[in-house]
Amino acid sequence: MPFTFDNSYARLPKQFYSAQAPTPVTAPALVKLNRKLATEIGADADVLDTSEGIEMLAGNRIAEGSTPIATAYAGHQFGGWNPQLGDGRAVLLGEVVGADGIRRDIQLKGSGPTMFSRNGDGRATLGAVLREYLVSEAMAALGLPTTRALAAVTTGEQILRDGYEPGAILTRVAQSHIRVGTFQFHYSRKDTDALRLLADHVIVRHYPEAGDTDNPVRAMLEGVVARQAELVARWMHFGFIHGVMNTDNCAISGETIDYGPCAFIDVFHPETVFSSIDRQGRYAWNNQPNIAHWNLSQFAQTLIPLLSDDEDAATKIAQEVLNLFPEVFAKEFYAGFARKLGVLEDSMEVRKLITDLFSVMTDGEVDFTLFFRHLTSSVTGGEYATVRMMFKDSTSFDAWLTRLEDLAGADIGTRVAAMRQANPVYIPRNHRIEEVIAAANNGDLRPFERLHEVLSTPFDERPDSAEYENAPRPNEVVQATFCGT
Ligand code: AMP
Ligand code: MG
Repeated sequence: MPFTFDNSYARLPKQFYSAQAPTPVTAPALVKLNRKLATEIGADADVLDTSEGIEMLAGNRIAEGSTPIATAYAGHQFGGWNPQLGDGRAVLLGEVVGADGIRRDIQLKGSGPTMFSRNGDGRATLGAVLREYLVSEAMAALGLPTTRALAAVTTGEQILRDGYEPGAILTRVAQSHIRVGTFQFHYSRKDTDALRLLADHVIVRHYPEAGDTDNPVRAMLEGVVARQAELVARWMHFGFIHGVMNTDNCAISGETIDYGPCAFIDVFHPETVFSSIDRQGRYAWNNQPNIAHWNLSQFAQTLIPLLSDDEDAATKIAQEVLNLFPEVFAKEFYAGFARKLGVLEDSMEVRKLITDLFSVMTDGEVDFTLFFRHLTSSVTGGEYATVRMMFKDSTSFDAWLTRLEDLAGADIGTRVAAMRQANPVYIPRNHRIEEVIAAANNGDLRPFERLHEVLSTPFDERPDSAEYENAPRPNEVVQATFCGT
């Protein structure tokens, strides 16, 4: 038995999901197994690595204790309301509890059609699976809350997208797959009993401290608001753009979920968008806090029936809690950028310095990650030539640098230590991911393995891996990423 399941979500009433076994595939083959994660979550990697285990990861065999379900949710996609989305290409096998006491979902993504598939085939391409595997594991290595990748398998089947592509299945691990859209699903159906059960489930599972307060639903809302505000701030520290911050992709646990058209910024511009379907820049790098706040207001709306017996009082509570967002976000956002600059205090001047840096970087057309990396070496070496050379014209950077030096503490050792921990050498650059996918589609997984290895310790310089640090050459720049479902 690879998993010791205890399926609390499947014990909720029927309106939360539909029973749904994965659809078997022709020829399952293991691409990657995350042994370290298996140990952390209390799964048996040796069993998963057998032919029976691989059949379970492909959905051809149901592990003992699994109660496979497709969960129901709704959501706002690019601002437009959809009353029923749900797991259209995923199946929740069940939950495991790790030695750390944390309960986690084991989900197969790309496991075949469900009652929520609408016109989709329920499948995932190898490219999309490898992208999610690499980026979600890179995010975890960077220290960000995220869903994880336990395994990737190919199905032996070709699926039709733009052309035919190899099919694959990702085994995704999450503290839960409950989304803002899950609450919206029951709220829009005026099913207050279901909403109450869901809130209780979330409190026990993700916000146990809220359970001990006078108004546990309010405390839960405060927790979700704080975790989302901090999460988005931390994405921005690494130049990460989620790409599809729809309410169905906003996890109540505070984990990053759904790596579709996501990307990391190369040359910095605050309005950068990668998603080919985001034509208005709704989910641009610098618009992410506004959107998170908007998603949370949709969440708060669903809690009105639970926050108080009196609707006006409930609305007032919801508004009060939502108003906490800007401050929590700003605190985390500026503290993180201050660490990236080796400035270890928060003040109005530091905040202004950071805001001005964004215009200086934009005008200078510098690579986001390399800028902070070279700044770190410059502070270490006391010599700014390399970082200055990044700017088309370094006049405004030089003026900005004088202000930085005035505000930064004198202790170089402390500064450098903070900067090294905040400024990764390696991020999953878009052109590297594209390269991995192209090779994998031709049966060569070596670039995947290599990139995965480099990203596993993103803050440590590797002498042999400079090409993974470099920005794309002009002909390598990726302009848009696709949902790639
Ligand atoms: P996403 O863009 O991944 O957040 O997905 C949005 C919705 O579309 C969810 O309900 C998915 O389950 C559904 N979906 C995405 N791709 C597929 C597919 N290939 N087959 C069926 N449903 C899908
Ligand atoms: Mg989604």
